Amino acid sequence: MSVSAVHILQVGACRHPEIMSRQGGHLCPVDFPALVGLILHDELGPVLFDTGYDQRFLTATEAFPERLYRLATPVSLPPQPLDIQLENIGYAVDDIAGIVVSHFHGDHVAGLMQFPKARIFCARTGLEATRRGGRFNRVRRGLLSALVPDDIDSRATFFEDLSPVALDDALSPFAHGVDLIGDGRLMGIELPGHCSGHWGLWVPDARRFFIGDAAWSLEAVEQNVPPPALTTGLLGHTATYRATLDALNALSKRGTVEIIPSHCARTAEKWVRRG
Ligand SMILES: [Zn+2]
Repeated sequence: MSVSAVHILQVGACRHPEIMSRQGGHLCPVDFPALVGLILHDELGPVLFDTGYDQRFLTATEAFPERLYRLATPVSLPPQPLDIQLENIGYAVDDIAGIVVSHFHGDHVAGLMQFPKARIFCARTGLEATRRGGRFNRVRRGLLSALVPDDIDSRATFFEDLSPVALDDALSPFAHGVDLIGDGRLMGIELPGHCSGHWGLWVPDARRFFIGDAAWSLEAVEQNVPPPALTTGLLGHTATYRATLDALNALSKRGTVEIIPSHCARTAEKWVRRG
C-alpha cells in the first residue's frame, strides 16, 4: 500500500443560514466546518486536499468589495492554524509535497501561501476563473485572487492535462479519473456544477472520496437534496450540480466508499483529528 494513512483536519468554519445549503432548510445560521485532508503517500510524502481558512482570508477580505464575502459567510478561524495542526502530527510546512485543490473558493485555498514548496494539483479552468472579470464579479463567484500564489503556474499540474483513465468498480457510477502522480493512488475526479473547475480526490487505498463542495453534507448526498437553485445558480450550474449529486447519491447507496464532503458536520464529528 502506498498511502499509509489519511487524516481529516478541521481548519476553521463559516456560518450561514441552513437554507443556502439545503432545499427546505431553515433560516437559522448553522456552522459549517472547513475540512482538509492529509494523505500520507509513502513515496511522494504528505499531500493535502485543500487548506481551509487562514488569517490570509481575513486580510484578503478586509477591503470592499472583497469584504462582502466575509459579511455573507462569517468565518471562524481555527483555534490552531493548519501549520500548527500539521506540526502536532509531526510535519513541517516544507514537508508537504503536494496540495490537491478541489476548487478556488476562498475557504479552500486561503492557506495555499503557507506552502511555497508544494506541488499544486488543480483545474486550469478554476485557476483561470480567479484571473477573469473585475473584483466585484470575482467576489460574487467566491473567488479571492489575493489568495493564489504568484508562482502557481510553475508549480501546478493541471487536471485537464492528464489523460483520463478507467476507475475500478468501487467508485461506480464514476467511471473515469486522472492519475495525479501515475501510481493509481491519488485519482482526481471531476465533479462539475458547483463552480468552474471543481474536482474531487479518490484515494483507493483508504477508500476515501473527498468531494469538496459537490455536496454540503452526507445527508444531502444520502437523501439527494441539493441546495436551492438560487445558490447553485449563483456559483455554478444548477443542472450539472444536480447530475453530480445524483451520481454521488447512487455511489452512497452502494456503501463501498467513505464520502467526505468538505463542510459536513457529521463527517467532522466522525473523522476530525482533535488535539
Ligand atoms: Zn465552494
